[in-house]
Amino acid sequence: MQFTPELLPALLKTISETIEKNTEEVTALDQALGDGDHVTNLQRGISALTTQAPELSLLNWVEAWQKIGMTLLTTMGGASGSLFGTLFISMSKAGEEQLDLSQQNFSDIFFQGVESVKKRGKSDAGDKTMLDVLIPVSDCIKQGIKDSVTMPELLKSVYEMAIEGMENTCGMLATKGRASYMQEKSIGHIDAGARTSQLIICAIVNELDR
Ligand code: ADP
Ligand code: MG
Repeated sequence: MQFTPELLPALLKTISETIEKNTEEVTALDQALGDGDHVTNLQRGISALTTQAPELSLLNWVEAWQKIGMTLLTTMGGASGSLFGTLFISMSKAGEEQLDLSQQNFSDIFFQGVESVKKRGKSDAGDKTMLDVLIPVSDCIKQGIKDSVTMPELLKSVYEMAIEGMENTCGMLATKGRASYMQEKSIGHIDAGARTSQLIICAIVNELDR
């Protein structure tokens, strides 16, 4: 299977459906640790991207990631809007010299994107954020490629790692973003951004694995 931006309309559809199905749960998570707006911020971004889907599908990945990042940055709001926006914009920058999207290239590009999210959020693994899903998933892709695993094996391990990363946030103390105001009370809740990152990654895997 060729992974081109022509997949974007189908990917956006499945992502949108997954987020829709889990709206109440994500809202409750962001209410427990933050201000409860995370899912509506995200849905605003996904809805803007869905409108752009026909255009996006005609671009190359570098152009598509740039447009996706700018759209998320300008429509979502919240901490997550600038962080998801940063992820895609820096993936576009990292991809500029590697238009051929091999698995190795994708791994390097995604790694660069996640590094930029860390810089932008002044955060890292263990802070109880979306990065507790993005970092282990990036590491898992890197390792899978190093071990020359097949695409179905790689997708399966990414799927499982996203869930594990999301679940691990439950026991963590929040040290970044609004959730950090909760201090010890943040322990015992899953982070909303980790949950939506996991839902999005698992939806993408399901679509690519068909
Ligand atoms: P806000 O916190 O501004 O209301 P959202 O509710 O949309 O924004 O997003 C909250 C999510 O953003 C959190 O659940 C967390 O995953 C992520 N987040 C917040 N601050 C940071 C940060 N400094 N680094 C990484 N992720 C962060
Ligand atoms: Mg919020």
